[in-house]
Amino acid sequence: MMQQLERTALPRSAGVVVVGAGVSGCSIARELTRYTPDVVILEKESDVADGTTKANNAEVHSGIGEEYGTLKQKLNVRGNRLYDQFVEGLGVDFQRQGLLIVITRRSLPEKTTARLPRPVVNFLLKKVLPRLIVLSGRRKGIDGLRVVSRDEIFRMEPHVTRNAVAGVYDRTYGMVAPYKLTIALAESAVINGARLFLNTEVTDIKVEGGRVKAVVTNRGEIETPIVVNAAGLFADDVADMAGAGGFRIHPRKGASLLFDRQETAEYVTSSVSEFKMRGHAKTKGGGAMPTLEGNLQLGPTAIEVDDKNDTSISAEEIEEIFERFYYLLPDFPRASIISAFSGLRAPTEEEDFVIGASDRAHGFVNVAGIQSPGLASAPAIAEMVMGILHDLGVPRSVRDDFDPVRPAPPRFAELDDEKRDRLIEQDPRYGTVVCRCEYVTEAEVVNAVHGIVPATNMDAVKRRTRVGMGRCQGGFCGCRVAQILAVELGIPVTEITKDGEGGWVFAGETKSFLKET
Ligand SMILES: Cc1cc2nc3c(=O)[nH]c(=O)nc-3n(C[C@H](O)[C@H](O)[C@H](O)COP(=O)(O)OP(=O)(O)OC[C@H]3O[C@@H](n4cnc5c(N)ncnc54)[C@H](O)[C@@H]3O)c2cc1C
Repeated sequence: MMQQLERTALPRSAGVVVVGAGVSGCSIARELTRYTPDVVILEKESDVADGTTKANNAEVHSGIGEEYGTLKQKLNVRGNRLYDQFVEGLGVDFQRQGLLIVITRRSLPEKTTARLPRPVVNFLLKKVLPRLIVLSGRRKGIDGLRVVSRDEIFRMEPHVTRNAVAGVYDRTYGMVAPYKLTIALAESAVINGARLFLNTEVTDIKVEGGRVKAVVTNRGEIETPIVVNAAGLFADDVADMAGAGGFRIHPRKGASLLFDRQETAEYVTSSVSEFKMRGHAKTKGGGAMPTLEGNLQLGPTAIEVDDKNDTSISAEEIEEIFERFYYLLPDFPRASIISAFSGLRAPTEEEDFVIGASDRAHGFVNVAGIQSPGLASAPAIAEMVMGILHDLGVPRSVRDDFDPVRPAPPRFAELDDEKRDRLIEQDPRYGTVVCRCEYVTEAEVVNAVHGIVPATNMDAVKRRTRVGMGRCQGGFCGCRVAQILAVELGIPVTEITKDGEGGWVFAGETKSFLKET
């Protein structure tokens, strides 16, 4: 069932068109296919999960950090509850590793503590603040929060600062691999009849008599009565195309650091964050976060930028992260850093999700302003959008032939010897390890290239297999992966890209200038 991508012409019409194949668009598309196969997903990049979804901290927040009563707070709490059920059948991992919120001597603003006698400050920090955090969480609908004593903090997380006074443990916090989840959602949608078109940019929306008529793209036009705008950072531009805008998205960069799992896998067992009373803060503050694969992350920052493509990261930003979390985790193994990455949040001026049917363009549905906690909220966003889509005419009864299972390709590194031997017997390419750090085999790379949503460049293979994600960051395996891609795609290796059109990995053949003379 390999998606034919470039080679397939766009259909002339579709029941619903989803713009954007990030976690929001793919969650909605997969949910849609429970009711109708007549769904088209359009993505301007060369792979799914290639926008903000590929560069976040992978946390399924509980909602504790969100302002009470906002849409993102409500959808976050609901999304977190739905997660186990949401990933069922998709073949992706999800784990509730919990969050430890640490209250330290600097958790209250200095201007408050300066005015109060020390015993009063201690009482506030030790007794009042933890209970307030628990009560505030319960008001938001989060179960499973409990106050933790100073001693218990050190038993749970021995590396936490001795300046810790008390804490709150939130057992509902989870971790998921965001791109693997999104690839799985897209593949599940495709299995159930949706058609996905990559490298397909929506450039206009035709609206006639106040109703959506068609979507115009760089590859042609699709007639449709319903458009779901899940275009992330560009959702304001896409909404304007239909005259259904009125909000602006201002990109906010978040940089994070990634550490070698061989050295930091057991540094913390849950996510660890320092509590700071920050009023209406624009981020949850971040912290140290273990990933499902065992790498530790530190960050993220929050920097307003003008450019919706600015995912740069400077030495100063890296230093800023180290300095910020040094107080919380003073013995942090700085030298184990293997990578730094940044992503762009997509907030509106109101700092809340904008989800709803337009009253100016009937059939146009905005799913915009999906900044953090968009990943955690994805199941609830899809649920809410489905309610809107049913009202717009999408059938309400589940299809008899909806298949909830998306077969996940085997991950060689996670199998026992018996299963590995069996795989090598079936396909000897399982016997050749391509990526030594992450133990990825040639067969896994080949599978990724021929997947239901196929990988056609180096980053796409990486997201599916973890090739190049280890200690050497692709230094050893990069060339081999490019060769496999070239053979499987039937193109010269010089045409292989890192991340789609224009990002060529090779400048040309070695000594090619000699041939020219
Ligand atoms: C640093 C950082 C850390 C974060 N950490 C977390 C976290 O731990 N937990 C959490 O819940 N959330 C987190 N988030 C937020 C989360 O990543 C986002 O909310 C989520 O990924 C948004 O997904 P999306 O599908 O709405 O947008 P995107 O992933 O950006 O997808 C939108 C897609 O639309 C495509 N597109 C745009 N315009 C067009 C067009 N005209 N035609 C066709 N396609 C188009 C884009 O190419 C893109 O692929 C974090 C974000 C950042 C930046």
